Amino acid sequence: MSRSFARGSVAFVGAGPGQADLITLRGAERLRDADVVLFDALSDPALRALAPSARWIDVGKRGFVGVANAARGGRENTEQGTINALLVKFARDGKRVVRLKGGDPSVFGRLEEELAALAAAGIECEVVPGITAALAAAATAQRPLTRRGSGRSVALTTAVTNDGRLGAGRHADTEVFYMAGKQLAKLSRKLVEAGWPKATPALVVSRAGWPDELASEHAVATLGDATVLHSGRPTVVTVGVGAAALAGAEHPPRTEVASPVREAAATTP
Ligand code: SAH
Repeated sequence: MSRSFARGSVAFVGAGPGQADLITLRGAERLRDADVVLFDALSDPALRALAPSARWIDVGKRGFVGVANAARGGRENTEQGTINALLVKFARDGKRVVRLKGGDPSVFGRLEEELAALAAAGIECEVVPGITAALAAAATAQRPLTRRGSGRSVALTTAVTNDGRLGAGRHADTEVFYMAGKQLAKLSRKLVEAGWPKATPALVVSRAGWPDELASEHAVATLGDATVLHSGRPTVVTVGVGAAALAGAEHPPRTEVASPVREAAATTP
């Protein structure tokens, strides 16, 4: 059994990347015990059913700042600072606080800032892992990220640097790029510059883990073709060995991995 959720502490919970049932049992248990839940975009609203009497605060929207003014005390004025201050305030009030994050909290989730703020305030924390988008995308497309003999390493990479620039390298046999959905053509160029051969398989998956998930396959040099299909949707791009179709695969994945043209035609009512 997992340990209990103490009053005055914070549990960071990975909600998983898609529908509510992708959360872990432990994450669901923390939600059930929570007095306050701070959540941001990308987690399924259906998770609210697990904690109907908790106070749910959307910290992914700018509108939440009003709620936070008291907690901030005028010292911190960034959105991240406001979230940190809210976590500290609710824990000091003796609440059981869940900080719900899409996917896994440890992957591109600003976890370090929030853990540091709570450690500085002497508040007990727990991190409950979740399924990160790269893993959900691999599951959607039924393309294993590691392959015996050829795919020994996987890198999770953000395509966007701290100052908002797009960057790409070549760090592993399979590399999964987050936060590149809006700039697929540019990512394609950067990947070629970084030394990926133009014909390297590239798999684009958006809304992985949701009923309307989409996957399309490309080569590194033609990644820009995926732009329209996945536009406006959270998207990961898997490049390299783990993006390749399985040799002799007879059964298509649940979400058909199709050319963008066929996929778009199939979804047109
Ligand atoms: N902590 C999250 C990542 C947050 S960063 C995780 O572990 O998954 C946000 C980025 O994650 C998005 O820009 C997108 O690249 C990716 N992402 C999140 N949910 C996704 C989903 N359901 N399908 C595809 N990509 C997703």
